Amino acid sequence: MASRQQRIVVAGAGIAGSLIASGLSGREDVEVICLERVGATDHMDAGTGLNIGPNAIKALKAVMPERADAIVSNSLAWQSWSIALTSGRSLMNLALSDVADNAGIRIRWAELYALLRKPLTNVIRYGAALSSCGRDGNGLFVTYHDKEAAADIRIDNIDLIIAGDGRYSRIREHFVSKEEPRFLGVCLYRLLFPAGADCPIDDYGQWFNGPNRLLAFRVPGDFVYCAGSFPIGDDGVVSDEMKTPEFLRGAYTPEGGMLCAEAAYLISALEQYTDRIHWARLQDGTTRYDAGAGVVLVGDSAHPMVPTLGQGATQAVEDACVVVDEVRRALMNGASLEDIPASVSARRTERAEFVVSFSRDATDTMLAGSDPVAGTLKKLEPAFTSRLERLYRDVPVPLS
Ligand SMILES: Cc1cc2nc3c(=O)[nH]c(=O)nc-3n(C[C@H](O)[C@H](O)[C@H](O)COP(=O)(O)OP(=O)(O)OC[C@H]3O[C@@H](n4cnc5c(N)ncnc54)[C@H](O)[C@@H]3O)c2cc1C
Repeated sequence: MASRQQRIVVAGAGIAGSLIASGLSGREDVEVICLERVGATDHMDAGTGLNIGPNAIKALKAVMPERADAIVSNSLAWQSWSIALTSGRSLMNLALSDVADNAGIRIRWAELYALLRKPLTNVIRYGAALSSCGRDGNGLFVTYHDKEAAADIRIDNIDLIIAGDGRYSRIREHFVSKEEPRFLGVCLYRLLFPAGADCPIDDYGQWFNGPNRLLAFRVPGDFVYCAGSFPIGDDGVVSDEMKTPEFLRGAYTPEGGMLCAEAAYLISALEQYTDRIHWARLQDGTTRYDAGAGVVLVGDSAHPMVPTLGQGATQAVEDACVVVDEVRRALMNGASLEDIPASVSARRTERAEFVVSFSRDATDTMLAGSDPVAGTLKKLEPAFTSRLERLYRDVPVPLS
């Protein structure tokens, strides 16, 4: 039985960390400290958008309904998923209501971060980069560098460390090991730009020319988010030549040169805003929640995955719901928090591994040599749609 106020340190005020801090702060029985390496306004111009799956919204409504309402009312609904060729031939038009209990959302990163952090003014320490962590005679500790004070600060007597510090988690590296990414040989880049007049883009759509794919949807504020991809060589290098308007136009233009209105519009935007594109490569890794007594990994630190199904942030939300639920339950029962990592792992590992592997499988049409027509037709078959239903409907339910 815990008789004193317990102390939780959340590293990273990203998707998972902010939601967990919201769900647990303001209680008498626990102190919550959230460390965020960037300054209070540094992510406000984060330049892209994202779609969050129906499963995240369903889970959040069950555990933190006020957070779900805030996010849903500040975003656009994600209700359909269409796939076509850049020439205009339609391959798939899926209504999410056929495979999910509710819609997903479309939003800008900057808006999402602002919404998630808004209720946490007294909980988040900004400009606080976790620099080390460990376990000694007094239990768990972390140290962080306070940018404003230009000082290193140590927090001792921690009952639970929650690693929401993303894909290159220092906490995972210290308590488990450094996670080496697995690259899939695909360049993925992102761009957010003003929709302008006569924009033909609305809900979530994809357009293929061979394995080269454009993905786009509208987000609030009259912006379009575009995530393009193309296979890269075995060296994994995205060369300077690939980052040119000429290369990008060539990648998406089919034989004969005829482009549908959506592809033509997106390619023009890529040409106009090439210097604003964020470049990355598809990668994933292994799943791990339990990093030892009192240390739990969440979000990208627990399960790096490819963003093909828009499930990275979505799973970070599901993780947050389970962590909040487990901690509330432990506090209600007067239990110590050191077993939280094991209980979260028991509830989450199978689900996260399913999502990581499903996301990887769904990437098939983006790999070198793939045929988007055959690959997309397969996505209409029950083998794929039943997995999609499991993904969108089988969300964690609160036990507390
Ligand atoms: C190209 C691309 C497109 C994507 N599109 C989607 C999409 O459409 N839908 C979707 O669901 N997911 C998408 N994702 C995945 C999504 O971005 C991540 O899965 C999600 O952000 C993970 O959330 P998180 O809370 O684990 O980490 P993050 O949101 O990355 O937050 C980590 C936080 O920790 C902070 N931090 C890091 N280190 C430290 C430290 N040492 N000390 C203190 N703070 C620290 C960071 O500043 C950050 O605020 C995409 C990813 C990529 C690369």
